[in-house]
Amino acid sequence: MDLQFSKEDEAFREEVRTWLEDNLLGEFAQLKGRGGPGDEDELIAERRAWEKRLGEAGWACVAWPKEHGGKSATLNQEVIFNEEYARSKAPGRLGHIGTELLGPTLIHFGNEEQKKRFLPGIVDASELWCQGYSEPNAGSDLANVQTQAVLDGDEWVINGQKIWTSHAHVAQWCFVLCRTDTDAPKHKGISYILVPMNQEGVEYRPIRQMTGNSEFSEVFFTDARTPKENVVGGINAGWKVAMGTLAFERGASTLGQQLAFNSEMDIILEAAKETGASKDPLIRQKLAALKVELNIMRLNSLRTLSHSETNELGREAMINKLYWSNLHRKMGEVAMEILGQESLVRPETEGYDLHKLQRLFLFSRADTIYAGSNQIQRNIIGERALGLPREPKVSTKT
Ligand SMILES: Cc1cc2nc3c(=O)[nH]c(=O)nc-3n(C[C@H](O)[C@H](O)[C@H](O)COP(=O)(O)OP(=O)(O)OC[C@H]3O[C@@H](n4cnc5c(N)ncnc54)[C@H](O)[C@@H]3O)c2cc1C
Repeated sequence: MDLQFSKEDEAFREEVRTWLEDNLLGEFAQLKGRGGPGDEDELIAERRAWEKRLGEAGWACVAWPKEHGGKSATLNQEVIFNEEYARSKAPGRLGHIGTELLGPTLIHFGNEEQKKRFLPGIVDASELWCQGYSEPNAGSDLANVQTQAVLDGDEWVINGQKIWTSHAHVAQWCFVLCRTDTDAPKHKGISYILVPMNQEGVEYRPIRQMTGNSEFSEVFFTDARTPKENVVGGINAGWKVAMGTLAFERGASTLGQQLAFNSEMDIILEAAKETGASKDPLIRQKLAALKVELNIMRLNSLRTLSHSETNELGREAMINKLYWSNLHRKMGEVAMEILGQESLVRPETEGYDLHKLQRLFLFSRADTIYAGSNQIQRNIIGERALGLPREPKVSTKT
């Protein structure tokens, strides 16, 4: 197992680092460290301008082919980019649903017209996206989606409700999982449809989160319309496209994030010194354990990369989501122990901001839910990585 990056990769790292240093200046300097957990719906216009700057230089979507505005980066380089991005404290990616989820999905499953129409808007951040998967009765059991799309001439007419839709309030487009054949077995009657958000038939209602922010919304489609050609991967063939998007969501984009966690770890260590908690032997042990686990996370990423000769992630990558989400939650819990009683205080008045560590703690509770809950990740590892028997089906309609 080779846990080193090559000379070429290290040269790429230098290029990324220099570009970030040269560009996170002036109007963008204020974005350092912003837009992270619990802060995702702040500084929207400024972060959008930053996305545009990244796109102009080819850094918005490094792993995409050059012809689509990326840098045709290898898996190693993509991870290096993510590491350097986190190291530089550049802001949380406002356009990540387009750059990490829809873009790769279109490159893989979309037709030429769809790539030509939608990829440039993702690269230059002129069109932001949201993900219309979950519904009140379709989360882990995603194949249960009930939102319906019916063809009316040259357009789809969409009716139904989505929930927990991140960035619905800033997005111009949503990729919506719709039922397009109500008689087919449930995995086989679903289509993956691109729907404009700015129309009368689409209404969103922000949901207030524990952090006080409203990063996600309920989205209601009432006779919403979109052109017939906006189906990705074929009518009633949306399930495999939807699974493809989820694989991108849990994939390489998360491999470099231990550096972002390291920055949070620095804040935790600083707080431990300030409050005197660093003198407590039990806290010291917990801090040391977190540091060790962060290192394991990095080594695990490197191990995953060293096994991927094909530039695709192997099955060991399936443990990543489970590992990082639990570690992040533990970091939040230790941070609250360090803040002590102060961690409990959050007056309901305007202008009182949460401590960064309170945000970390509250938001990290969501990490083990989105992009597939812990239980679902364990099922994936069991069934797809270890080849164990499939989970018994409860539903009678499959
Ligand atoms: C911060 C955040 C952002 C999100 N953003 C989006 C978004 O942009 N777009 C979108 O579509 N969705 C989004 N989601 C929704 C997310 O995908 C769902 O919350 C997730 O899929 C779980 O679905 P659920 O909430 O309906 O819970 P359920 O599926 O009802 O699960 C409830 C509990 O039962 C367990 N469970 C369910 N099925 C099984 C099983 N087969 N075996 C064992 N245990 C099981 C789960 O692990 C969980 O603990 C977001 C969620 C969060 C927290």
